Amino acid sequence: MFGLLFFQKGEVTMSDCIFCKIIAGEILCNKVYEDENVLAFHDINPAADIHLLVIPKKHICSLNELEPNDEELMGKLMLAIPKIAKENGLKGFKTVFNTGKEGGQMVFHIHAHILGGKIKAKLPE
Ligand code: AMP
Ligand code: ZN
Repeated sequence: MFGLLFFQKGEVTMSDCIFCKIIAGEILCNKVYEDENVLAFHDINPAADIHLLVIPKKHICSLNELEPNDEELMGKLMLAIPKIAKENGLKGFKTVFNTGKEGGQMVFHIHAHILGGKIKAKLPE
């Protein structure tokens, strides 16, 4: 949360954010989709048959920290979600954005969970 902000390939990243490290290639992920603005990969601790995370390459902590100039980026992220789900064989799926500690958010880089197939009783907290 309080890491140094730095710029990489034109993207704002946070030095101590695990998802920024995945974007930077410093931590490996099981990638399923990438474009200029968005990255998607398998959740390391799946809560469903298919459990993907979709993140913007810009570091934004959560929905609570969105600013008006994030509108276009978040629109692109939302449009990427059904595309990624379809590419992974899902006709229907759940989409979850946990927001804030009280909302069950553990990683403070905004992300959409895509949950498809059989979902475990306990959804990601
Ligand atoms: P949230 O509770 O919404 O913040 O969800 C964070 C999600 O990130 C959890 O479902 C974790 O299993 C997942 N996660 C944490 N670290 C990694 C990682 N290195 N690679 C993939 N998924 C991760
Ligand atoms: Zn980040």
